[in-house]
Amino acid sequence: SVELRDIHVSFGTLEVLKGVNLKVEKGRTTCIIGPSGSGKSTLLRCVNRLQEPDSGDLLLGGESVISSDPDALRQRVGMVFQHFNLFGHRSVLDNITLPLRSVRKLGKEEAAEIAHARLAEVGLADKAPYRPSALSGGQQQRVAIARALAMEPEVMLFDEATSALDPELVKGVLTLMAGLAERGLTLLVVTHEMGFARSVADEVAFMDAGKIVEQGAPEAIFDAPRSERLQRFLSQVL
Ligand code: ATP
Ligand code: MG
Repeated sequence: SVELRDIHVSFGTLEVLKGVNLKVEKGRTTCIIGPSGSGKSTLLRCVNRLQEPDSGDLLLGGESVISSDPDALRQRVGMVFQHFNLFGHRSVLDNITLPLRSVRKLGKEEAAEIAHARLAEVGLADKAPYRPSALSGGQQQRVAIARALAMEPEVMLFDEATSALDPELVKGVLTLMAGLAERGLTLLVVTHEMGFARSVADEVAFMDAGKIVEQGAPEAIFDAPRSERLQRFLSQVL
């Protein structure tokens, strides 16, 4: 499981997270929805401590990791970004093996074996020797997912993983993500894809102005929103 307790983050005088509590049980998927600027990315970044909260606690597998070694934490928490953040000058294979070798300290052969297996899993077995620039956006995002999976994280974070993709490429990546949820990975997904949140999430959390305003099963959030703010948000995005 992964849990945030009373997380506060400010940038100068701007309070961006105002006491956020959120728990994703092992094997479950939570989607975070909400308007631009509500603090979704900041929240996600707190989970692998790319953003250090001003106060609050972060638990992984029931243990506080708020003051543990951030590099050790990042091995346990995989993250996939909107812009794939691949190494442009290395092959697809290297993109996956380099972190395995430097962080997990695996040998060349073993790293390559894992990389090939993960690439096959995301449907890109034949792309190993290419540079990322030779791949479509959707394929690049699948490489980024394969790279994160190769680290065998306990939790995977997705921040608008399909927002930068051409419309016809979105579905393939969402299907891959749905497959991970199905397989029982623990996922925390910030998304604009309401159809995905409705069909894949176990829980949906609606953020507005630095707080989780409403949280529940997808049916409750989408079919019976209680707060006026969520009703207004859904009327704009659905
Ligand atoms: P979007 O849907 O547009 O991605 P978001 O919900 O992910 O929005 P955040 O990126 O978390 O929102 O930003 C929340 C607020 O914090 C915004 O007002 C943003 O300008 C501000 N902010 C985020 N990062 C920083 C930073 N490093 N320094 C100053 N302000 C920041
Ligand atoms: Mg964001």
